[in-house]
Amino acid sequence: MIVNQQTAAQKKVDELYATLGRRRGASPFGSCPVNLTASFVQLCLAQSCGKCVPCRVGLDRLHALLEKILDGRATTDDLRAIRRSAAAIYDSADCAIGFEAARLVLDGLEAFRDDYLSHIENGVCTAAFDAVPCVAGCPANVDVPGYIALIREERYADAVRLIRKDNPFPGVCGLICEHPCEKHCRRQIVDDSINIRGLKRYAVERAGIVPTPPCAPFNGKTVAVIGGGPAGLTAAYYLQLKGYHVTVFEKHKRLGGMLRYGIPSYRLPDDDLDRDIDAILSTGIQVKLGVDIGGEITFDQIRSEYDSVYIAIGAQIVNRMNIPGQDSEGVLSAVELLGAVGAGKAPDFTGKHVVVVGGGNVAMDATRTAKRLGAASVTCVYRRRIEDMTAAREEIDGAIAEGCEIMPMLSPVRIETEGDRAVGIAVQPQLSGPIENGRPKPINADQPEIVLPADVVVTAIGQAIDSAHFESSGVGTERRRIKADPSGAVPGMPGVFTGGDCFFGPSTVVRAIDSGKVVAGNIDHYFGFHTPITSGVDIPPAQTIGKPAWGRVNMRERTAGDRKEDFNLMEACLTDEEAAQECSRCLRCDHYGYGAFRGGRKDRW
Ligand SMILES: Cc1cc2nc3c(=O)[nH]c(=O)nc-3n(C[C@H](O)[C@H](O)[C@H](O)COP(=O)(O)OP(=O)(O)OC[C@H]3O[C@@H](n4cnc5c(N)ncnc54)[C@H](O)[C@@H]3O)c2cc1C
Ligand code: SF4
Ligand code: SF4
Repeated sequence: MIVNQQTAAQKKVDELYATLGRRRGASPFGSCPVNLTASFVQLCLAQSCGKCVPCRVGLDRLHALLEKILDGRATTDDLRAIRRSAAAIYDSADCAIGFEAARLVLDGLEAFRDDYLSHIENGVCTAAFDAVPCVAGCPANVDVPGYIALIREERYADAVRLIRKDNPFPGVCGLICEHPCEKHCRRQIVDDSINIRGLKRYAVERAGIVPTPPCAPFNGKTVAVIGGGPAGLTAAYYLQLKGYHVTVFEKHKRLGGMLRYGIPSYRLPDDDLDRDIDAILSTGIQVKLGVDIGGEITFDQIRSEYDSVYIAIGAQIVNRMNIPGQDSEGVLSAVELLGAVGAGKAPDFTGKHVVVVGGGNVAMDATRTAKRLGAASVTCVYRRRIEDMTAAREEIDGAIAEGCEIMPMLSPVRIETEGDRAVGIAVQPQLSGPIENGRPKPINADQPEIVLPADVVVTAIGQAIDSAHFESSGVGTERRRIKADPSGAVPGMPGVFTGGDCFFGPSTVVRAIDSGKVVAGNIDHYFGFHTPITSGVDIPPAQTIGKPAWGRVNMRERTAGDRKEDFNLMEACLTDEEAAQECSRCLRCDHYGYGAFRGGRKDRW
């Protein structure tokens, strides 16, 4: 016998797989699905041990058929042959290398049948490459390579102006955007994605106050925006710039929606939020605070007084657990807890045992907030595994580092009470069941219930839309969400639009911003004006790109022991040195690759 050692060849193969993983991460939007399937089948063939015929021979035959389709030599008979071969491989291959390859081909025949047919009938693919991965990945289509190039030249105010062309919340997004732009960043092919969000915050910090552009002359039209969250304020900003007179109606005493009354200040301080809101309001938008549309003023009144209305009321009400004891004293929702903290009415949890129920980012915010409110213990219970939680991994790790406990695979059964007060929560252990929608479904395990002591139980199991008043005025809804076509127009109500969380359900800030931007454009088209929004910023030419692999700079945080004591911002801004390094890693995909020939940059909308 000899001790197993990794050969140089195996090390290289492992490196190849790691590179493949990163390349998959950086996959461009709009890749041809048939071509990808053919490449995938070929990879599976390279992994085949060759023992069983369906895998060794079948995958080779499948690959040949797929290549025939890509070459434009195939007929619909070949499509049928692909289905037959894949089904046979799925049924008879010995191991997952063979049968899972076949399953993917079978699934693809359903999912992108049109693309298969287009290759066969027209010899072309239906997929269309999106030019710049980070721009396409950002829901608001922020010009990422443009602002990175401007930061590199230390033109910070211009970077903010460029971001504001598509997103009037650069300060907010620099702190708490979930940065889907980084998911497809092409730099991952070399080493790791660019820290796009961190650079945005750096530009905002360095730029200071940046005035907004002048508004177009008044075009005679008025718009009412119902809801002063990111969706409402974004629409208001762009409409005001386009020459409308906009009034925002907000039921709270302050603007910001969930940015103020949801996201805790240790992630998004009020000052940073106010800096963005002040810039938005500097365009001359009128604001009516403390006005609940559906209370003292009705939606019908608003409709009769304004030429157009944008409904952006968010998802303000909370889903209930529907278990015995739910209404006991000491049980509250995460939205209530975080809303009270945001309004400056934080409860005192000193010495209390707090249990939070849920597995998303809102649950993590409630968990970490409870810790900062002095709780003796904070436990977050979730009915699936930790890896199935929808909360960002860094939020979960952050909560654990701050001394909170995460207990997965537990489903709430009832609130234990003494009189009307909660004293605990009974939970049923769960087992990971079949995969549904990419996650294992939890099922009751054959184990006894556990009772966790709790003076406070915080529920964070999703939010819903309070659309009853709008429904009663004839606005259509579906599962309480406001119904609209993809342009945001509410059917049967000319001039009425909607967007943000009340339209697509609880989501992210940048999606809310995008919907505000899109609706502003669509309202403008509705009235036939088409007034453009531009930045007026010239983008520096691309420099030679840095090719050597180089580590990504991540943001640093205050130590867990320090930050759990207060609500001050946790995250530090990039230093000059770190920002310069991140900027120099950008591959300028607006210039190199498809970016150069797919119509260039969109400098107006
Ligand atoms: C705790 C928490 C943490 C989050 N963390 C993040 C994060 O880190 N990153 C991220 O991208 N997203 C995060 N989100 C999601 C994000 O905040 C929302 O997706 C976003 O705020 C939705 O914007 P909106 O404008 O559609 O709605 P909202 O922000 O909910 O704003 C709607 C506004 O309408 C007002 N309103 C409602 N009804 C009426 C009425 N009848 N009359 C007048 N005004 C009315 C409300 O008071 C509110 O101000 C978080 C959400 C929560 C709850
Ligand atoms: S707004 Fe968010 S998604 Fe868009 S570029 Fe900025 S960090 Fe990325
Ligand atoms: S390398 Fe630069 S331009 Fe290319 S996707 Fe990443 S951030 Fe965007």
